[in-house]
Amino acid sequence: MTLLRLENVVKRYRAPDGTELTVLEVPWWELDRGERVALVGPSGSGKSTLLHLLCGIVRPSSGSITLLGERLETMKESALDRLRASQVGYVHQSFQLLPGFTALENVLAAAAFGSSLSKRRQRERAAELLERAGLGDRLDHLPRQLSQGQQQRVAIARALVNEPALLLADEPTASLDPETAARVMELLIGSAAASGAALLLCTHDPEMAARMERSVSIKELAARPAAVRLA
Ligand code: ADP
Ligand code: ADP
Repeated sequence: MTLLRLENVVKRYRAPDGTELTVLEVPWWELDRGERVALVGPSGSGKSTLLHLLCGIVRPSSGSITLLGERLETMKESALDRLRASQVGYVHQSFQLLPGFTALENVLAAAAFGSSLSKRRQRERAAELLERAGLGDRLDHLPRQLSQGQQQRVAIARALVNEPALLLADEPTASLDPETAARVMELLIGSAAASGAALLLCTHDPEMAARMERSVSIKELAARPAAVRLA
């Protein structure tokens, strides 16, 4: 079942000298529920731009993005914020945890915006996700008291706390050593599978891409004509 559809999506930015620069073009692309796909391409090819479009923090210059039957490009900001908070989890390269909040509080902060559960159930789910991430004894630690790999595990728990349909990860292991990176990838793929979320992971690392069900490159996305309508 289709989770996400892009039709004739173009993103342009205006350069300082006033010229328009096309940074991303996707004639047609679909992602199914529960799929796990690597998005590959060199630095600067538009991977982050695509993730930002999919979670609605950037709007397309033209074209249409449909997530769970909702057309993102025409949604009001407030509705888009609600949809993002409840249905999209985001894992950054640099973790982006709140520095003054404990591991548990970081996860709960995401639940406060996007969850329909009671406060008690939110707490239970947050603690459960952190335990599954191997952080059962770190709930009350601040980010600076955690290793890089542990911080990324907290970020993964935060991204999943509202049971999103879509999990976006932007170079999630790029700042980790190879062994930690492999374990974080395992957690990411395993928890996406366990929660039924589709996972779209940006990477320039072929080894990370190979862990996913399939890979698609930014170049392929741009080259695929809308009329062909391949998934
Ligand atoms: P990647 O994630 O593959 O490294 P990005 O999506 O970050 O690529 O960037 C794609 C291109 O878009 C780059 O050339 C970048 O400079 C440009 N770009 C991204 N955001 C902006 C912006 N806000 N204003 C102007 N150019 C941008
Ligand atoms: P990083 O370099 O750490 O991977 P990104 O370049 O992906 O970070 O993110 C750029 C900015 O967009 C960040 O400041 C981040 O806070 C914001 N952002 C990205 N995704 C979301 C989201 N789902 N909700 C709120 N803010 C977001």
